Amino acid sequence: MTQLLRARSGTAAAAVTNGPPAGPARRPHVRVAVIGTGFAGLAAVHALREARIDDYVVLERAAEVGGTWRDNNYPGIACDVPSHLYSLSFAPNPDWTRTFSGGAQIQDYSRQVARRLRMDEVTEFGAEVLAATWQETRQCWQIRTATREFSADAIIDGSGGLSDPAYPGIDGLARFRGTICHSARWDHDADLSGKRVAVIGTGASAVQIVPAIQPQVAAMTVFQRTPGWVLPRLDRDITRAERRLLRAFPLLQRALRGGQALVRDGVLSQVMHRRSVRRIVQAVATAHLRRAVADPPLRAKLQPSFEIGCKRILISSKWYPALAQPNVQVETSPIRQVSEHAVVTADGREHPVDVIVLATGFHVSDTPIAARLHGRDGRSLAQTWGPSPRSYRGVTTANFPNLFRIGGAGTATGHISHILQIESGVRYVIGALHAMDAHGLSSVEVTEAAEHAYTLRIRQMLSGTVFVAGGCTSWYLDKSGQASAAWPSTARRYRRWTRRFDIENYHLTLRGARSRPDQAAPLINPQIPAAAPAAAMAQIGATS
Ligand SMILES: Cc1cc2nc3c(=O)[nH]c(=O)nc-3n(C[C@H](O)[C@H](O)[C@H](O)COP(=O)(O)OP(=O)(O)OC[C@H]3O[C@@H](n4cnc5c(N)ncnc54)[C@H](O)[C@@H]3O)c2cc1C
Repeated sequence: MTQLLRARSGTAAAAVTNGPPAGPARRPHVRVAVIGTGFAGLAAVHALREARIDDYVVLERAAEVGGTWRDNNYPGIACDVPSHLYSLSFAPNPDWTRTFSGGAQIQDYSRQVARRLRMDEVTEFGAEVLAATWQETRQCWQIRTATREFSADAIIDGSGGLSDPAYPGIDGLARFRGTICHSARWDHDADLSGKRVAVIGTGASAVQIVPAIQPQVAAMTVFQRTPGWVLPRLDRDITRAERRLLRAFPLLQRALRGGQALVRDGVLSQVMHRRSVRRIVQAVATAHLRRAVADPPLRAKLQPSFEIGCKRILISSKWYPALAQPNVQVETSPIRQVSEHAVVTADGREHPVDVIVLATGFHVSDTPIAARLHGRDGRSLAQTWGPSPRSYRGVTTANFPNLFRIGGAGTATGHISHILQIESGVRYVIGALHAMDAHGLSSVEVTEAAEHAYTLRIRQMLSGTVFVAGGCTSWYLDKSGQASAAWPSTARRYRRWTRRFDIENYHLTLRGARSRPDQAAPLINPQIPAAAPAAAMAQIGATS
């Protein structure tokens, strides 16, 4: 593991020293195309194997497996969820060395799981999906990647909710003569020693980057729009003895993971719903700020004005101490523009810098893949969604037969491991594939009525939660102000809601029952009446 850690390099492409592996035979048609080799891709491949479905291919735009933890390798990167919980259920790892793992160790773990799954044999690397269009007459997806074109009966889209970095539209950014570095595409060749550095953004990545680079830079200005709530990070080494114990008693590891899930799902999830719980957690965060920052003006700048949990809660014991260092300045005047050598704020001041670090997040509600997937009526997912992404049970979308998105709209939580959500989604997809086999179906497509009822139900659950009523803007919110990224409940409940593939809420097309090019394929189940959302909700089983 240490060797791999050392071998880890700045970019995904550079991490593979001998070039991408040859990959699988390039067949003109497969049953399933999986997009991505993050945890969603790994979980999908594992589940396909378990289900004895072997006619599939994985498409990965990078040169090696890994997703989030391959692409985000900035200094200080680490997970905010305990290591044993942030692991795939089928690949428990007794060898985690920290209670909260660093990004490099998680990427190393991904590689180990990938080796075990023999991902190299089924993955086409460098195969960015550029377009995929549903062919109604052929009942399959026509897929164009960076390397070839082929077709697949179904797509499992594991391209990730946080995989495409968002660059801010700051006037003059392109004119800047120094180095610009996005947190998600860190430039490891950039030497920060003795440099004047601007950090734009104060979210989850910034709170990890700033303490990691502060000791080496000459001066740092952190440009803050909205201060977030920060809780201390209770991180420690997992001792050799503990690791031996976990290795010897796998049940102990499962119990540990179960306990962590229970606490987070049972207690932390309540931050979403209960002001009384928020007050307690907020008191802990306020005490953390008071203890770490003695200077009243700085403390005032860092005091959040919204309710805790509205934005993702930040976890760091090093962020405040780093901001209190003499070479760091927190700037709250908004950025007006960037000149060739400086950041200029709205109050007219120039802040000369050599390097700009953009910790500005990702395209979430406008994920690029959505503009590349075209459904039954030819419109893209992005066009179909408009400003507000939606998906039925976080997986399927009306008008997009046999398209299964893992960790899609309405699955993000702020309290627990996203891997749990991913694995629930994958199980639902396998249920769909089994149902297709069992009933001789060439396609399944969620009815608009079921999707509509589900969306209403989720919005109802979201109303009053801290995501929408907490007084902040966040990446959970889309352009229309809906918290369409968020799952407003526990991971246990999402698991329950995805346990069974509810075939009754899908349009079904029998194999061989091809439609004419200008006609929809025959449907063998009626739509749920859109006018009766309550009944529809009961029918979709989204009532408990
Ligand atoms: C900095 C950071 C910290 C995080 N910390 C936490 C945390 O503490 N706890 C937590 O639960 N979650 C965290 N997350 C969320 C994290 O993204 C998920 O936990 C999880 O890793 C998502 O896995 P995924 O497989 O769905 O997506 P990803 O890991 O993003 O993988 C998507 C894969 O799809 C590939 N891909 C994308 N588009 C295409 C295309 N068009 N064609 C081909 N391939 C494509 C990408 O290259 C990538 O390999 C964090 C995310 C980030 C960015």
